Amino acid sequence: MSDAESRRQALVEVYNQASICERCPLSETRNRVVFGAGNADADLMFVGEAPGAEEDRQGLPFVGRAGSFLTELLEGIGMAREDVFIANVLKCRPPGNRDPQPEEIDSCRPYLEKQVELIQPRVICTLGNFSTKLLTANPTGITKVRGTPQEHVLGNRPVFMLPLFHPAAGLRTPRVAEQLREDFRQIPDLLLRPLPPGPEPLVPEREPEPDQMGLFGG
Ligand code: URA
Repeated sequence: MSDAESRRQALVEVYNQASICERCPLSETRNRVVFGAGNADADLMFVGEAPGAEEDRQGLPFVGRAGSFLTELLEGIGMAREDVFIANVLKCRPPGNRDPQPEEIDSCRPYLEKQVELIQPRVICTLGNFSTKLLTANPTGITKVRGTPQEHVLGNRPVFMLPLFHPAAGLRTPRVAEQLREDFRQIPDLLLRPLPPGPEPLVPEREPEPDQMGLFGG
């Protein structure tokens, strides 16, 4: 089995666990768990905030109006949704689309971490404040950081992070929609840019000491 196929199968197992998750009270109000969808071996991953009403109904991410705009932005750079993986910080809809609560983010975080570890994207576009602050581990607001790629290490692998405005904000404000289009134009180059070297392995491999080799050698 190829490495990509075994990672895809492991992702299906995480999906199976998430689809019966009861780690936080959102499990009592959701209709469907929205795990994420797309190419399990994608180089490009998007991380939004949380499912809305339409996503909760269909069990799929970004299928409402913000999702149509995301699809349009992707098509604008010659890509399709099937090329990428789309997920959210929260896998269940907060009632009335209220902001995610810190305990909900903490409960759901292992699913997102596992998704990143198994998909192994080269570039992660964070959509809006919640995913940007969580994945960059920095409280600076999206308006300051949007459109500037950052280098990070996630799941022990180097990755480029590109913070972007949330597409829903683009639907409300034409200037934000224009900035989203502008920021998206960086993605093709970023996908081709060599990644910085990863961290050293935790336990460096060492040559056996010469005298130890003598003990067991011929
Ligand atoms: N907004 C999000 O952040 N995620 C979705 O899946 C839909 C809308």
